[in-house]
Amino acid sequence: MMSFIGKTAVITGSNSGIGLGIARELARAGANVVLNSFSDRPEDHAVAAEIAAEFGVDAKYVAADMSKGADCRRLIAEAGACDILVNNAGIQFVAPLEEFPEDKWDAIIAINLTSAFHTTAAALPQMHEKGWGRVVNIASAHGLTASPYKSAYVAAKHGIVGLTKVTALETATDPITCNAVCPGYVLTPLVEAQIPDTMKEYGMDRETVIKEVMLARQPSKEFATVEQLGGTVNFLCSDAATQITGTTISVDGGWTAL
Ligand code: NAD
Repeated sequence: MMSFIGKTAVITGSNSGIGLGIARELARAGANVVLNSFSDRPEDHAVAAEIAAEFGVDAKYVAADMSKGADCRRLIAEAGACDILVNNAGIQFVAPLEEFPEDKWDAIIAINLTSAFHTTAAALPQMHEKGWGRVVNIASAHGLTASPYKSAYVAAKHGIVGLTKVTALETATDPITCNAVCPGYVLTPLVEAQIPDTMKEYGMDRETVIKEVMLARQPSKEFATVEQLGGTVNFLCSDAATQITGTTISVDGGWTAL
């Protein structure tokens, strides 16, 4: 049984979806967790309180906008400690390259890539000082392959795979590792919300939309789950993964084997 008792994990973009799933699995294994998003609503803080009550760990929510460098660095400072850093915050926008709005390009690069530069730079000194650290970057199958109309997302996700390798090399002789997790399609509330519209658009039932449209490139024809991603992050933070650094783990039902 993995135990992260006494460790603090900071997970960016964790008031919903994959980030929340990862935070819950880290808390289940005993880590104190710091949740984050850009909003500052009572329900954001309530999510942290629920995790604290369910798993008997310390949990808090820090509002910080991952599109802003200063906020990224403040998140690490306000976390109090950061033994495990999970760079998960991300957004998506789909348009042909010639029509891709400049502000959407800038926001995707800032939130999906540059934020990880800032948080990692801010967290590494204390990892060096404590002599232990784990950085896990949530990339995507789009960090390894491409799709049309996702220029900014694919560029940012390939970029974070590169940043992962550099972080690993710069920490290689320390007990610190840095790896990227590359999910295929994951059934998060964001993805769930797209199903009714896609059913209408294609005139298909739910099952057909899932298998033939959404999971067209996922050979398993199953979504990955947030619990599976949390389990993968926990493994990368475990002692068994001490010599795993600078690499990617795909959780994509075979997508990148095609
Ligand atoms: P989501 O929209 O549920 O979660 C994204 C999180 O990032 C949310 O908590 C959101 O509040 C937060 N966020 C957005 N902008 C932010 C900002 N400016 N500052 C701070 N937080 C911000 O989506 P998700 O599906 O859970 O995605 C999480 C990560 O997983 C993303 O990096 C995404 O690219 C990646 N991913 C998702 C899938 C999938 O199928 N869902 C597949 C591959 C990779």
